[in-house]
This record gives sequence, structure tokens and C-alpha cells, in this order.
Amino acid sequence: MALVDPRALSTLAWHRTAADLGLPALGPEADGAGLTAESLGRALARRRGAIKPALLDQRVVAGVGNIYASEALWRARISPLAPAAALGPARLRRLAEAVRETVREALRVRGGRYSRTGSSEHFAVYGREGEPCRRCGGAVARTAQAGRSTYFCPRCQRR
Ligand SMILES: [Zn+2]
Repeated sequence: MALVDPRALSTLAWHRTAADLGLPALGPEADGAGLTAESLGRALARRRGAIKPALLDQRVVAGVGNIYASEALWRARISPLAPAAALGPARLRRLAEAVRETVREALRVRGGRYSRTGSSEHFAVYGREGEPCRRCGGAVARTAQAGRSTYFCPRCQRR
């Protein structure tokens, strides 16, 4: 189903298959079994740039937005600035697991991000710049990547 909503008149179209939409193929679902160290490794192998913007590419993994990209990287102890193509098998495994757990927990605990807007108290790093990291006590930092805010702990998330 495609909803095109340029503010005024919206159109809703139903397509038999995703391919009929003419969209690029999506990566595996963020909370599904298809997301593995191997699938991530394949998607990131020839990728230039840092891991955090890569996680927002729906061809790499489907269903991860800006908040949960930061949260998953914190959980995996990987710096958002780490080069995407340089992640080894152990870190890819941690990341696949972290993405899955982060998204599943979000659905379980919050019923999705938008059910409690404006509050960052339930996030590990997102929206918590300057506050102590819940794992190591270091100060949570904020930076911008591809025009989006990224939150992370420079002390315990490694490049
Ligand atoms: Zn930390």
C-alpha cells in the first residue's frame, strides 16, 4: 500500500507486490529472524561512511529510524562513527542482536515511539546529551550525521 501525502491531497494506492511500487528492495525486518550478522555484513560490505547513517538505509535493515539507530548502537557498544564496512563478525553479531532487541523492546514497553512523545527518559542515549551513560557513567554526546542527530557514549561505544 502506498500513501502519497504532499500536505494537500493524498492518494492511496494498492499494489499486488512490493516490486510493483518501484521501490528498492527492503532489507530484512528489524525485529525478524532475517536480520543476522551475515545479512548485515553483506549489506555493509561495500558501504562508505559511518555505521549510523547506514542503519537508517531501509535497504540495509527495514524499520529502524533515527532514535533506534542510536539506541541499538549504544546497546551493541559500537560508535555511530565507526566505518560501516569495517565491522567484523563479532560486532556485526552484536549489532544484529541489538537492533532486534531494541525494536522489540520498544514495541513491548512503549507500543512504538509515538505513544509517549517528548520524553527521553526511557532511552539509553537518545535526547540525553550531557547526561551520564547508564552503562559507564560517561557523558552522553550528540553529533550530527547526514543531517540527523546522533546520540552516543564516546567512552563505551568503540569505533
Ligand atoms: Zn558509556
